[in-house]
Amino acid sequence: MNSYQVLLYYKYTTIDNPEQFATEHLAMCKEIGLKGRILVAEEGINGTVSGTVEETEKYIEAMHADPRFADMVFKIDAADKHAFQKMHVRPRTEIVSLSLENDVNPLEVTGNYMEPEEFREALKDENTVILDARNDYEFDLGHFRGAIRPDITAFRDLPDWVEENRDMFEDKKIVTYCTGGIRCEKFSGWLKTAGFDDVSQLHGGIATYGKDETVKGDLWDGMMYVFDERIAVPINRVDHTIVGKDYFDGTPCERYINCANPYCNKQILASEENEEKYLRSCSHECRVHPANLYVKKHALSQEELEARIANLEETVSAK
Ligand SMILES: [Zn+2]
Repeated sequence: MNSYQVLLYYKYTTIDNPEQFATEHLAMCKEIGLKGRILVAEEGINGTVSGTVEETEKYIEAMHADPRFADMVFKIDAADKHAFQKMHVRPRTEIVSLSLENDVNPLEVTGNYMEPEEFREALKDENTVILDARNDYEFDLGHFRGAIRPDITAFRDLPDWVEENRDMFEDKKIVTYCTGGIRCEKFSGWLKTAGFDDVSQLHGGIATYGKDETVKGDLWDGMMYVFDERIAVPINRVDHTIVGKDYFDGTPCERYINCANPYCNKQILASEENEEKYLRSCSHECRVHPANLYVKKHALSQEELEARIANLEETVSAK
């Protein structure tokens, strides 16, 4: 147990030839034995990788030996296995996709950095708006107490959402947070260019806040969504509460599944029992979709499928 580690890291720094860098970096990661997902762009690097303690330490050492990444911070989680199936290093135009018309360089403009203790105080301040800079499905699994949930499914939609809800933030201090801090670097910079004056960001994100020995994840409710096979990781070591709700019956739930209709693929929280009962599908349309993977996997005949759905419609209408 715990002979593996998961590393989460990013750095805004100039990488001159992202394509070439990606090719060489992939070769290095494979040689070390890592698995994971790394994005590289002219603006920097953003990655999550897993490996044995020895492998991950070797990687950290190699990165810190490169002047561009000498001070890069690695958030390290203990694990008992790899968190990915494969190793990818992909060249991109951005290391997080905000797709702004006028791109923001966080090295030039970004919000003030707030350390965990100061952030905890901000959570209690009524003149401060705490804005979650993540997607709706990430928020629904867990978030800071009292934080605002933007109604978005992709990060690039966040600026428009803020513009549409500008009155929520007018004349307030704004503090943003995200998983590891990378999205806030650019987003808080965008907030400043959009005319908001008092903008801060949680330095190192939720991951750092959870590991901080003073705050110990205090005032975080639920679990933190992560983009690897673990999906949910604990943050609050003071009083853990469950905020996730089962998509089907609303009971407390922290288990994510993907809708079995591959054209939908929606992420929903569901117990094992409800996953079975509802054929791992988010709607009637998805249950009867000809490409439904649950139906395929269980080789349900048309008759069996109809019987399962008839049974379900009864249950649903009985509510
Ligand atoms: Zn669906």
